[in-house]
Amino acid sequence: MTSAQPYPHSVVNPATEEVVAKVEYAGTAEADAAIERAARAYDGWRAVAPADRARLLRAFAAAVDADRENLAATEVANAGHTISNARWEAGNVRDVLEYYSAAPERNFGRQIPVAGGIDVTFKEPLGVVGVIVPWNFPMPIAGWSLAPALAAGNTVVLKPAELTPLTAIRLGELAAQAGIPDGVFQVIPGRGAVVGRRFIEHPAVRKIAFTGATVVGQQIMAGCAAQVKRVTLELGGKSANIVFADCDLAAAAASAPYAAFDNAGQDCCARSRILVEQSAFDEFMALLEPAVRGVRVGDLLDESAEMGPLISAEQRASVARYVPDDAPVAFRGTAPSGSGFWFPPTVLAPVGRDSAAFREEIFGPVLTVVPFRDEDEAVRIANDTEYGLSGSIWTRDLGRGLRVARGVQAGNLSVNSHSSVRYSTPFGGFKQSGLGRELGPDALDAFTETKNVFISTSGNNS
Ligand code: NAD
Repeated sequence: MTSAQPYPHSVVNPATEEVVAKVEYAGTAEADAAIERAARAYDGWRAVAPADRARLLRAFAAAVDADRENLAATEVANAGHTISNARWEAGNVRDVLEYYSAAPERNFGRQIPVAGGIDVTFKEPLGVVGVIVPWNFPMPIAGWSLAPALAAGNTVVLKPAELTPLTAIRLGELAAQAGIPDGVFQVIPGRGAVVGRRFIEHPAVRKIAFTGATVVGQQIMAGCAAQVKRVTLELGGKSANIVFADCDLAAAAASAPYAAFDNAGQDCCARSRILVEQSAFDEFMALLEPAVRGVRVGDLLDESAEMGPLISAEQRASVARYVPDDAPVAFRGTAPSGSGFWFPPTVLAPVGRDSAAFREEIFGPVLTVVPFRDEDEAVRIANDTEYGLSGSIWTRDLGRGLRVARGVQAGNLSVNSHSSVRYSTPFGGFKQSGLGRELGPDALDAFTETKNVFISTSGNNS
């Protein structure tokens, strides 16, 4: 058996290490067959009247809503998410489908004044879109691409991450139940190097929407270049949470752990670097300690659980490398012992600004804290990274909040909050955190080409 052949894969519950399902992974031939099915379905799907495409997306949203508890329970078992997070994630897929169900009837072009005729633009779909999803937020990240792509009239082939295929497979079933025509949305579980690679190589796939590690995104972008294939990249992050001495320190400290440890820190937007104004450093650390110790890590089905395990033994080993025995641990929270890939919330301070823990995306519940002298230095430290995905600024000075938000080179900033992603606002990265934007009112731009048509109104056909 080679990796390019189909094979059964065991899906493991990261909280218990038990096998929860066996999934058949596609080989190259299956991936090609799915892509070709999607290509055949394209003409029919783009021809569906806008109001009917909207109705079908609303029916898909309703099917997701009706299955929300099942989807959430599946994600708890497959990805080790807490039940409250998993419910939110399933609800987010529903919301995103509903939001973009309004798009087919509002996919406007423009009428541009020109001499001798009428000039109009159309937003044409691209064809088959390949969506490649990571394991950290399997449901929302799938929804953010598939919903606008389908709304624009594309057909979609989606590859979930190797470790977390179950909710994506279920979304494929729900789409079919809702009446989305055959071949329009297909989920193809398999390896990145097999199925993902075919998305990039196969000429019928006209666009890749990739979310994952920066190093993989670089390879995908290079692969897409051969066919000038459109590509959107949502990649890694090492975001700063900048705390000024004039802010509501208690609120900043109480919320900081959740901005770093949600989803066990396996969050591209994790604010894993806290920068604190020197004059408030000691007070902030004193407030942060009980907040970190208070994070509830454990029984995922308990509605009060706040953090689960890491996704795999490999991920835990990778995170643990940033916390060697002599690491400067300021304090840490708790985690269950025994089976499961648990890792306690951990705060490192003081850390050097050139240390690996401060510079690299750890993708686990480890955060670092450093002091800064003034506003300029805060912005300089925040920007001293190749990443630029998100960040937070805590201050009571509105002018400073806006100045620093404008100064930080990142796609998603929040002032006195840690919000990053709302389906109605654009999301994406600066620098090596990504290319292009998802979500928000303009998301269909990433799944359409602009076509310009001039219609002569002069009598002589010139
Ligand atoms: P990953 O890059 O290893 O894998 C992501 C997906 O790409 C998987 O489906 C994988 O099978 C596939 N893949 C891997 N190699 C491939 C190849 N050569 N060709 C085609 N497909 C390939 O990432 P991961 O470990 O699953 O997720 C963690 C990373 O994702 C982190 O760096 C995180 O910051 C990033 N992320 C970014 C965002 C964002 O919106 N910016 C959101 C979530 C996660």
